[in-house]
This record gives sequence, structure tokens and C-alpha cells, in this order.
Amino acid sequence: MQFDIAVIGGGPGGSSTAISAARAGLRVVLFEKAQYGRDKVCGDGLTPRAIGALNDLNIDHSISHRIDGLRMIAGKKQRELSWPTTDRFPNHGAVWPRKKFDNHLLDIAIESGADVRFTAEALPVIEDGVVIGVEVNGEVIRASLVVLATGAQGAAAKMLGAVRDPDETFGLAIRAYAPTPRHAERHLEACLSLRDEHGTPVPGYGWMFPAGDGTVNIGVGALSTMKGFKKLNLNTLLDQYASIVREPWSLGEYVDKPRAWRLPMSCVRRHGPGWVAVGDAAGFVNPMNGEGIDYALESGMLAVQCFIDNPATAPSSYDTQVGERFDAFLRTGRRFSFIIGHPWLLRPGLRVAVGTQVAADITLAVMGNLIDSTTPGAAGKVMRLADNALRIADPILRRTRAKA
Ligand SMILES: Cc1cc2nc3c(=O)[nH]c(=O)nc-3n(C[C@H](O)[C@H](O)[C@H](O)COP(=O)(O)OP(=O)(O)OC[C@H]3O[C@@H](n4cnc5c(N)ncnc54)[C@H](O)[C@@H]3O)c2cc1C
Repeated sequence: MQFDIAVIGGGPGGSSTAISAARAGLRVVLFEKAQYGRDKVCGDGLTPRAIGALNDLNIDHSISHRIDGLRMIAGKKQRELSWPTTDRFPNHGAVWPRKKFDNHLLDIAIESGADVRFTAEALPVIEDGVVIGVEVNGEVIRASLVVLATGAQGAAAKMLGAVRDPDETFGLAIRAYAPTPRHAERHLEACLSLRDEHGTPVPGYGWMFPAGDGTVNIGVGALSTMKGFKKLNLNTLLDQYASIVREPWSLGEYVDKPRAWRLPMSCVRRHGPGWVAVGDAAGFVNPMNGEGIDYALESGMLAVQCFIDNPATAPSSYDTQVGERFDAFLRTGRRFSFIIGHPWLLRPGLRVAVGTQVAADITLAVMGNLIDSTTPGAAGKVMRLADNALRIADPILRRTRAKA
């Protein structure tokens, strides 16, 4: 059977592709290598931007745990912030554990008419440089467009050259669940002043994301721009962070073993004849906060829209349009990550970021990509300024980057 779209991967990127395609009446098949009900290592945090994307996808998110803002902590400073009110995004986020969230999306894909197959590892089939479909268990399934939604880049991505740029930033993060009486709180908590076991400031943050189900998602994430990144022990970093939050959160023991995974923040190739990459497979993780769910949802929807507009030009028009939407912001984020990789820039930067309520509000809006360069107001101006300054400073930032 010939499909319009074959999707490889059943995370938010793959599901949003399958849902949009099926609802538009396209013949779509999705292959997920795991069994139905798989979990994904994640903080489970949805920003207002991600809630906006779920609204665009027409997904009811009322069963998730609503979040109204962020408690930002740097050293002894704490600020409780509400999500910004903008015309573009709702003013609330959510925590939605991925085991439930991803399966919810896959259920909707199936209800919408997508052919979803589990325990099905798929690889692209390339003929004369064109991806003509996928191979699953020795069977070739043809499709006009193959959507690579495989998450942090693996075998399928390598075949297509959709790999990380070795000169660019990436992240690593680890998470666990633990019981807490504060599980129903409506604020995420982020500690921006993490230190490793040698006392070196870590560019990244520790998080407490209350899930509303008796537990909190606790985790730490770090950017590759710090000195000694290769030696960083995430388990130790998590335990250290847990020792700080244990008392204020009356934290119980981890429910399961902490699990770590990669955060891809670049990709040298995200389209080609017959294929496009979405979500993590395309390197769409925000270097300023490690968020990737929204980008996966948005890029999946966009890929389908490009196919509907014109199947023949879908890969190149997707590349252009997704670039217009994300590239400038993600580039600025990566440049920013070089700056905070230097402890002597990170510390004063944090003092400014949380120094006043106004500065902290701007930091939240900028980090969450809840503004863009055309947004009026202080956050928009800061973003424009940062864009320009970081563009000029880029060569110096790269030359002086902290060596891993
Ligand atoms: C510790 C941690 C915390 C994070 N916290 C947050 C957060 O709080 N908020 C946020 O927005 N983002 C967070 N992220 C990032 C977020 O998890 C990812 O950006 C998001 O999952 C990307 O979705 P995706 O659909 O692109 O990929 P994934 O969710 O990784 O899904 C890819 C799927 O493809 C399947 N697959 C892979 N290869 C094949 C194949 N060959 N055939 C078939 N199936 C295949 C995999 O089994 C997987 O199910 C976090 C990441 C980490 C590691």
C-alpha cells in the first residue's frame, strides 16, 4: 500500500504529524519501536507555548496538572513569577507525565484514522538519493513523504545525515519521580545556581515540576559548554540537588531509578528528497530551558501543512518555514549557552536575571520563547538587543568557549 506520509517515531513530534495528517484525510502510518505505553525521560513540563501548540492541534489538555508560573531561584534569591500574558500564547502551562501524555496523543492519532504500529522499528529506504518509504521487519512500505520523528538522533537519522553539528551545544539531563506533599502546587521551580561536586557552576538548572499526582518530577540538566562537561556525573549532580530540596519539599525516596537522556540542539540536515525531520530529530530543543515538546508539536504540524500545500515541494518549503519560525531564536540560545558556560559570566548574569522582578519576568519570557523579535515591550527589546550583541560576539564566544 502507498501512504501519503510515513512517520518514524511515536513521541510528540510523530503524534502531532500523524494527528494532523489523519485529520486532513491523508493516508498516514506511524511506526514506534517501543511497545504501547512506553515512557520517555523528560521533565514533563509544558510551557504556555506548548499549551498553545496543543490548542492548535485541538487536544484537550484539561486532565494535565495546570501550572501558572515559575519560581526562579538563584543562590539566596527567589522570585515567584506568573507566565506572561501575550496575544500569542495562553498564560498557563502544565505538567503532564510523558507516559500518559505521549499515549494520550497516540490514542488520538489512532482515533483520527492514523495507522499506528508498535514494536515496529523503521528505517528509511533510499533509492537514487530519494527516500521512497520505510523498511520495517524486512517489509518496504512506500510513502510520498517520510517524517523522521525519532527523537535524539539514532540509526535512522544517521542514514539521512540528520546528525548533530559537532561544533554546537547540546545538553544532558536526568530525572526521577519522588513523592511530596507539595505535588499539587501550581508553580514550577527552577534553581539556576547549580554547582557540580567540585563547586564549579553548571550552566543549566535543577527543577521541581509538581505533577499533581502525589509526585514531583525532579531533575537536573546541563549544557555541553561548561568546562569538564564530559566528566560531569549527572547522578551525583541530581543527588546534590535533591539534598537541597529534600527538606523544603519533604521529598520522599525516588519512585524509580533516575534516568538520563540527551537534548539535541542542532542538526546539520533536516530535510532532503522525500523526507523531513521534526522535533528532537531536527535538533529543536531550546538551549535556554531544555524545552523540546512544543517544538516537536509545532514542527510536526508544519510538516503536514507543507505537504498539504504541495507534496512535491514539502521538504524544502518545510525547511524554509520551520527555519523562519525557530532558527534565529535557537541560534541566539546556542550563543547564549557559550556565555553561560563561563562561570565568571554565569554568576553576574544570574544576579542580573533575578535581581529585580522586572528582570526576572523578562528572563522568563525570553527563556520560554514566549516573545519574538517583533514583540513589543521590554522582553522583545531585550531579545532584539541580545540577538545583535550575540551575533557580533559569536566568533569570540566560540574561540573562548570553555573546553569540555
Ligand atoms: C531529562 C529530560 C528532561 C526534559 N524535560 C523537558 C520538559 O520538561 N519540557 C519539554 O518541553 N521538553 C523536555 N525535554 C525534551 C523532550 O523530552 C524532547 O524534546 C521531546 O521528547 C521531543 O519529542 P520527539 O517526538 O521529537 O522525540 P521523542 O519524544 O524522543 O520520541 C521519539 C520516539 O521515536 C522512537 N523511535 C526512535 N527510533 C525509531 C525507529 N527507528 N523506528 C521506530 N521508532 C523509533 C522512540 O522510541 C521514541 O518513542 C527533556 C528531555 C530530557 C532528556
